[in-house]
Amino acid sequence: MGKKILSFFLLSVFLSAGCVTEKQVGEKILVVVTIPPQAEFVEKIGGDLVEVEVMVPPGASPHTYDPLPSQLSDVGRARMYAKVGSGVDFELSWFSKLQEINKDMFVVDCSKGIELIGNDPHIWTSPKNAQIMVENIYEGLVEIDPVNQEYYQRNKENYLSVLDGLDADISDALAQKTNKINRKIIVYHPAWTYFCRDYGLEQIPIEEGGKEPTPRGLINLVNQAKADNITIIFASPQFNTDSAEAIAREINGVVVLIDPLKKEYVDNIQKVAGAFAEV
Ligand SMILES: [Zn+2]
Repeated sequence: MGKKILSFFLLSVFLSAGCVTEKQVGEKILVVVTIPPQAEFVEKIGGDLVEVEVMVPPGASPHTYDPLPSQLSDVGRARMYAKVGSGVDFELSWFSKLQEINKDMFVVDCSKGIELIGNDPHIWTSPKNAQIMVENIYEGLVEIDPVNQEYYQRNKENYLSVLDGLDADISDALAQKTNKINRKIIVYHPAWTYFCRDYGLEQIPIEEGGKEPTPRGLINLVNQAKADNITIIFASPQFNTDSAEAIAREINGVVVLIDPLKKEYVDNIQKVAGAFAEV
């Protein structure tokens, strides 16, 4: 008798737990984003009310990636799409097709209010720009889910202050080196333009117009690195590191990998700033 009651009890706990989980999943707002750092931004603001799908997965390049069929069906179910909006190749090639798949999804342009430097799309590497992107995502979530505005606002304010802290830490890390630091950064793919602008660094790309450098370009970089006493060459996991390694060999330097697209935004950008500070 007692045993029967117990198993009935367990069964109903199991069933109601199952129901609750299913209901929450069903109610979550599916937001699609282009790159991993945006997923972090949406999750920080949307908390457990959102589910996020990233189009360009970790390790892939937003300059060349094409979506999988399964990702197109995610887009079909999305309530909102947060575009980077700054001219990322993936969006230039695919966004109108994605919108055809889902004409009802609400589109947020994360670059709204951000001043572009030339046609450089890598706006997210600057924490100051990240704050504007977060603000745009917040407004989008409130637009499609006004009932939870207070929750989103609280989360947004918390995260903006974390980003304020990040900005202050980077300024400190790089300011301490004012006298010693060589403010020139040689990097394979020039993803750090906005970061360098904000913290007084100068980015020297190895790529030439988005392509592998010519032999002459490599020689020029080696000479420049020698003249400026540069010993660290930055490269990223999305690209071939051969030419970065070739330069490093010539100058007796090292290649350090930095990733402009990591989802764990704050930790990652802090780490990059630390690497730049070592130069
Ligand atoms: Zn890039």
